[in-house]
Amino acid sequence: HIPVLCVDGPTASGKGTVAAGVAQQLGYHYLDSGSLYRTAALAAVRAGIAIEAQHEARLAELARSLPVRFADGRIWLAGDEVTDAIRTEEAGMNASRISVLPLVRDALVALQLAFRQLPGLVADGRDMGTAIFPGAPLKVFLTASAAVRAERRHKQLISKGISSTIADLRAGLEARDARDASRSASPLQPAQDALPLDNSALSVDQTIAQVLDWWRA
Ligand code: C5P
Repeated sequence: HIPVLCVDGPTASGKGTVAAGVAQQLGYHYLDSGSLYRTAALAAVRAGIAIEAQHEARLAELARSLPVRFADGRIWLAGDEVTDAIRTEEAGMNASRISVLPLVRDALVALQLAFRQLPGLVADGRDMGTAIFPGAPLKVFLTASAAVRAERRHKQLISKGISSTIADLRAGLEARDARDASRSASPLQPAQDALPLDNSALSVDQTIAQVLDWWRA
């Protein structure tokens, strides 16, 4: 029996930071499923395959044999380190576009399930609790207001020396949310047994503490 804790939610809700923090506290493995969609999209761009439904079969084939490797907090696509390249807004938008394709989603299932290893796993994404680990004993649906999410993303980008306006970022993340929520394959929605957590007014530490409280309850 390998325990799995799921943290799902919209773009920039703080899922990654919270899930990684919880994993660290528990000594569990951590799956950032979004990074797989981001890497698959980048692989498609590099292979010159347009991310469009008409190329779904080819894109799925690419995803099924995605040469992705995680080591020391870095991500590699074949021989190239792509840790930073997959974090741009464009890479996120491409990830959102490739993730609407059901065959691509299917192709990435085995890769995600393989992260479930002892002593346990914290998985973050959009459909961890609904599609990938439906039997997980704790599912958290993490949200924050669009204004707060745009501001957080803005601060993150500034710290990397990337300039953008809060209004543009907010429009971008709302567009991504709308696409993620309206697609037919595994749309972004809380699992029936997910616990909602709005962290708009919480710090990262407070949010992690709440998740750990639920886990230990
Ligand atoms: O979480 P992150 O912003 O890195 O995810 C990038 C995109 O990948 C999301 O906007 C979403 O479209 C897609 N995704 C998904 N299912 C997941 C994780 C991410 O569809 N489990």
